[in-house]
Amino acid sequence: MFSRKHLLLLNPWAYDFTACDFWLRPLGLLYLAAIVRQYTDYELDFIDCLDSSQIESGYYFRPKNRTDGRSSFFKEEVTKPEIFRHIPRKYSRYGWPYAQVESRLEKIPAPAAVLITCTLTYWYPGVQAAVELVRKKFGNIPIILGGVYATLCPEHAQSQSGADLILTGPGENQILRILQEIDGKDQFKSKNELPVFPDFDSLPSPAYELSHNTSVLALLTSRGCPFHCSYCASRLLYQRFEQRQPEKVAAEIEYFRQNLGTEQIAFYDDALLINKNHHLIKILEALTDSKEKWRFHTPNGLHPREFDRELARWLKISGFDSLFLSLETSDINLLAETGAKVSPEDLERALGYLEGAGFCRSQISVYLLVGLPGQDKQQVVESIRFVRALGARPRLAYFSPVPGTADWKKLVDSGQLKEDSDPLLQNKLVFPYFWSQFTPEDLDEIKKEATGKNIG
Ligand code: SF4
Repeated sequence: MFSRKHLLLLNPWAYDFTACDFWLRPLGLLYLAAIVRQYTDYELDFIDCLDSSQIESGYYFRPKNRTDGRSSFFKEEVTKPEIFRHIPRKYSRYGWPYAQVESRLEKIPAPAAVLITCTLTYWYPGVQAAVELVRKKFGNIPIILGGVYATLCPEHAQSQSGADLILTGPGENQILRILQEIDGKDQFKSKNELPVFPDFDSLPSPAYELSHNTSVLALLTSRGCPFHCSYCASRLLYQRFEQRQPEKVAAEIEYFRQNLGTEQIAFYDDALLINKNHHLIKILEALTDSKEKWRFHTPNGLHPREFDRELARWLKISGFDSLFLSLETSDINLLAETGAKVSPEDLERALGYLEGAGFCRSQISVYLLVGLPGQDKQQVVESIRFVRALGARPRLAYFSPVPGTADWKKLVDSGQLKEDSDPLLQNKLVFPYFWSQFTPEDLDEIKKEATGKNIG
């Protein structure tokens, strides 16, 4: 008799010094889930350890929830990795309590395979812990690891994660073949050739139906970025920049509203404003036509250079709430060195348009990078003062050395990092303790400057 086998989709914990739910959703895993659901008969079990809305009663957890969907995580302190022993901060496992994941695994049938992801390279201890737990419960079943860590650090993932198979890059044209190889064709709806997804727009919508937390969703209207910033991993994750058709994006968002009660969307695009008149504005036009009230967020910084009066007006009338703009630094030499995607004047102009459209400048956060190779404390302090003088809010973004980027290479060439350094050193909070010219005291002073508790 035909029986449906199970697949387990697992978004593991984050192991870090600090973490919060900044509209984090395992979008890649949910895309793969949608493909598997469409082309096979597998029953899908989904465990999202980073879904704070699913912490069971009985654990002491009072989440700091904001109405915009951001939230704190439950955390359990764990032993710090040896490499961090001299850092005077606690290290924790963020996400579901360990015992809750254990008991959840007790309740699901043994899967034919496990698909696991990992959002940040230096969160790989969460993968290791999850793989260990899965093996304890289900024995030697195939575990497939994809996502950012697997793509950027495939050798480390192969030797250290405990997963059997490392899936690098976008997984849509790989996952069905892998499942066939490990489990045969029995669960496939068709014995014909496997489908090919030629571009991002050909994918089915991410399977948010599997998620419990659907009032606020993260989405991508595009993949990749046309720029080449020296510190950024975008091109390593997606080799080309591709935008979806605006009508399809709007229809998908409407579908989520009608079927999952979604009211807020965080756009996680790297380059949301490129081609704006034919892309974002078209999406917003379609959504405002439906007369539903939306709240939108842009956790990845928007490009100030792309702003004009019309765009600012659309952002205001369509429900953009927490705006994040990218400047990175006001130092023009450093801007030129790192990619020249923006200038301080672009930011000034963008803020003017946004204010003209009815935004309050103090609502607008401006990302400033801290810890870039060659950057010094004074450059950061001056950038903070520049943003503050414009009436916006400086928001510090700590530099993480991503393997394969130009800045990574700079650090390796200068001997500050090794080619095979532990991905834990990519943690954005540890640079003052290892390889940067910033000391921990410098960083404290910079934070005070950014929060207005000035160093004078
Ligand atoms: S503009 Fe942003 S996403 Fe694009 S390469 Fe630069 S940092 Fe990366």
